[in-house]
Amino acid sequence: MEPFVLKTKEYFYLLQWGNEFPQLTAGFTTKNGGYSKEEFSSLNLGLHVGDSNELVCKNKQKLSDLIQIQTTNWVAAEQTHGINIKKISKSDSGRGTFEYSDSIRDTDGFYTSEKGILLTLCYADCVPIYFLDKKSKMIGVAHAGWKGTVHGIAREMIQKWTQEGIDPKNILVAIGPSICEKCYIVDDFVIDFVQKILEDVEEKPYNQIKEGQYQLNLKQLNKILLIQSGVLESNISVTNYCSSCHHNEFFSHRRDYGKSGRMMGFIGWKED
Ligand SMILES: [Zn+2]
Repeated sequence: MEPFVLKTKEYFYLLQWGNEFPQLTAGFTTKNGGYSKEEFSSLNLGLHVGDSNELVCKNKQKLSDLIQIQTTNWVAAEQTHGINIKKISKSDSGRGTFEYSDSIRDTDGFYTSEKGILLTLCYADCVPIYFLDKKSKMIGVAHAGWKGTVHGIAREMIQKWTQEGIDPKNILVAIGPSICEKCYIVDDFVIDFVQKILEDVEEKPYNQIKEGQYQLNLKQLNKILLIQSGVLESNISVTNYCSSCHHNEFFSHRRDYGKSGRMMGFIGWKED
């Protein structure tokens, strides 16, 4: 079953997590229903891509009205395709939300168990990975392009949570809308990294289409790495949405030749 379900034209939400925990809001935005123009049309949520700051903030306000967590409680990052992950608390509220310059530096993953904080990261093809531990109420989100994926950002999140006393077997993971293997052709440089981390894996998440060209399934690769980190396969759900194929719903950095807006992956506990 598809884990991401369209709630309004502006966003998909994680149906099953939302049904089980009405106080949890977790989802992924579309490119529709916002105020931005031209290549950012219309729900661009990235402050760093050359769009008008004012319009991006208007877009954020619109989403906050829909999901009912105020923008002053959102947290955003300067994403660098690295594997740095930060535990977020109330004191970080609002960082990176209205001005890119005060984003949390050099960070591609967030987690928290505090209520009233919305963890947000920007995407246009890279893989959004959502994490939930029901018992401790820990929630997290990561941004995994090929670099973050092969350097192990998914494993990094599981390790951080293990240090918090959480058993990986209890962690639920959802892998969200991102580029599919048909739309994502990479070269030997990338595949060399993938091969190194998958020596023991029988079914490879890539497929050679010609000399030096491969289709790479980044969602599947992250799933494999999560299982290697101790997450149960039955606890991982993967979307069928592709940011490039589903052009009516999503921006795609690759499809749009680098000129595009950004979707937002988000997760947060509403205040009681
Ligand atoms: Zn595709």
